[in-house]
Amino acid sequence: MKNRNILISGAGIAGPALAYWLHKYGFHPTVVERAPRPRSGGHLVDIRGTAREVVAQMGIVARIRAATTGARGMAFVDGTGKRVAKMGTDAFGHSGGPVAELSIRRTDLARILYDTTHADVEYMFGEAITAVERGDDGVRVRFEHSEPKMFDLLIGADGVRSNVRQLVFGPDERYLRDLGSYVSLFTAATEMDHDGWRLMYTVPAGDGRPGRTAAIYPQLEPGTALTGFFLRSQPLPHDRADIEAQKRIVYGAFEKDGWEVPAMLDAIWDAPDFYFDRTLQVEMDTWSRDRTVLLGDAGYCASPMSGIGTSLALVGAYILAGELAAADGDHTRSYAAYEQKMRLFVDRAQEFARSAGDGGLMPDSHLQIRLRNQTIRMLRFLPKRLVRRGMEKVADTVELDEYRTPAHH
Ligand SMILES: Cc1cc2nc3c(=O)[nH]c(=O)nc-3n(C[C@H](O)[C@H](O)[C@H](O)COP(=O)(O)OP(=O)(O)OC[C@H]3O[C@@H](n4cnc5c(N)ncnc54)[C@H](O)[C@@H]3O)c2cc1C
Repeated sequence: MKNRNILISGAGIAGPALAYWLHKYGFHPTVVERAPRPRSGGHLVDIRGTAREVVAQMGIVARIRAATTGARGMAFVDGTGKRVAKMGTDAFGHSGGPVAELSIRRTDLARILYDTTHADVEYMFGEAITAVERGDDGVRVRFEHSEPKMFDLLIGADGVRSNVRQLVFGPDERYLRDLGSYVSLFTAATEMDHDGWRLMYTVPAGDGRPGRTAAIYPQLEPGTALTGFFLRSQPLPHDRADIEAQKRIVYGAFEKDGWEVPAMLDAIWDAPDFYFDRTLQVEMDTWSRDRTVLLGDAGYCASPMSGIGTSLALVGAYILAGELAAADGDHTRSYAAYEQKMRLFVDRAQEFARSAGDGGLMPDSHLQIRLRNQTIRMLRFLPKRLVRRGMEKVADTVELDEYRTPAHH
């Protein structure tokens, strides 16, 4: 088998999942991750449709279930906290709703994937690629700290602002589509008990402020909960490294709002895991160039609000590794097959993310909020197959091929 030595940039979801399958097929993956160690905290992700089969085949479903949030659904509240419209998780099947049955912190999933692979895969934490020289026989990679090294293949699984994509395919502006809003998430101390429901409070545009939603997720540890803030806005001039400036933007947009918002905002200044970014999609005609290929958000981020990115990453990892094994390590053939098998799933996911827009979270008027809530209340009177059709259909796009371990492994 050719091209056994493979470097993967990124130990999020896609990178370790790919490393798992590559090792199983007899390749030697190395994973380089910028963060100094597996992280903790952070946002929730969903495992839907075909991705459920992928984690089942990896034998990690029990561990994932043990770490799921067990969220019962999502409810919209008014300024007094009254739940005015709600969608139970079970109303949409295991994969169709805004909160999937397998919903887990991204860092918990990354941790499970790391634990499952670290005995067989070399991980380089606190390290990043600084330069890539592409040759006919391999890829010569320079690192921030370690000595340069040759690898047969290079996989960029380093997220929406992928370093590998910038180094090999060109600047971000070429590939990022801005979906017109900001998302902020952080962990806050709260005593609020909402019996497993994700609560959302929406305020329409007005008084020079944009349409916006504040959210509290079910508590995973007593006394703290993940809080979310979503706001429609043009890109604002700010330094991406200046966290305090980003906190002030969120604070200013939600200041004086009702419900639990003041207490949630008070927690912003001490948040251990503050996150703030644009909603972005990554759009590329091709995900491969010579010996390099992109996987997960790096190649086809659908949007942080889409709820499908983790499933794309898991299914993409399964297919890419499987095709490399099936082609005996021939990257030209396997990259082409991977692109061909993933393209429809990616197109549908990105189209779904664009058409669902902000999911009614950033409305212009009170009327829009009333219509949204009315639609949600009507859902339980509609046939289940109609309700589930959107997300569930997207998540089931791919049928997994069975890949066999190469005979001479
Ligand atoms: C706020 C937010 C909310 C989201 N909500 C959901 C949701 O509800 N449901 C859902 O399914 N998905 C959600 N997503 C999307 C989901 O997190 C991603 O689709 C998924 O994590 C993709 O996995 P990935 O491995 O491709 O990328 P990531 O998980 O982003 O992992 C990339 C990794 O690469 C590392 N890295 C970055 N740069 C470098 C570098 N230069 N060198 C080395 N390593 C590097 C990063 O540290 C990270 O560990 C959300 C995303 C965000 C940001």
